[in-house]
Amino acid sequence: MDERIIVAIDGPAASGKGTVAKKLAKILNLPHLDSGQLYRRIAYQVLKDSVNPNDKKALIELTKKINFENTEIEDLRNDNISSVASIISQYSEVRDQLIEYQRDFASNGAVVDGRDIGTIIFPNAKYKFYITASLEQRAERRYLQLKRDNAEIDRNNIKNDIKMRDLRDINRKIAALRKAVDAIEIDTTEMKIDDVIDFIVKYIHKG
Ligand code: C5P
Repeated sequence: MDERIIVAIDGPAASGKGTVAKKLAKILNLPHLDSGQLYRRIAYQVLKDSVNPNDKKALIELTKKINFENTEIEDLRNDNISSVASIISQYSEVRDQLIEYQRDFASNGAVVDGRDIGTIIFPNAKYKFYITASLEQRAERRYLQLKRDNAEIDRNNIKNDIKMRDLRDINRKIAALRKAVDAIEIDTTEMKIDDVIDFIVKYIHKG
């Protein structure tokens, strides 16, 4: 496989794109970047330092200080961090500071997943996929995933949280979530993750 190949995978929250990207990277022997972790890392710091997530100036300063190599922080996936990540990611001041990191990461090829990967970060990526699923199915998947660690978790809260994040991601003024015109859309509502990966691998191997 050409080692500079970039596979861009976008899609809404809890669509399964992260799992697909991770497994795909392993199969293709490429590094994997979960770009959502970068926004989550900032959100973590915002909460830790009690910064107002709508204070753009403070966000710029805070983002400059973060070492993005270190996203191995426990529980970056909790609800609070998800919501703050979706707020701070609306600002171009924040997004602009992450562009270079993402492009550098993939300079020798990578599988990258997020919201704007095929549209803004790598508009010339050789392979682009847009992975989606119904809101009900996405909420159910996230519920089952989170329930493993927290038995108290509420299904409806999860669904509402995903809905809110979708709305913010789709309606924001910059780098809004949308399918790149040349991306292949895969609706995984009725599919198993392994079948999704199978489809993508076959597609890529066809060249
Ligand atoms: O993908 P994940 O759910 O971890 O992303 C967390 C949040 O970060 C999303 O709700 C979205 O607002 C933001 N995000 C983004 N652009 C990306 C990846 C994530 O705006 N490329």
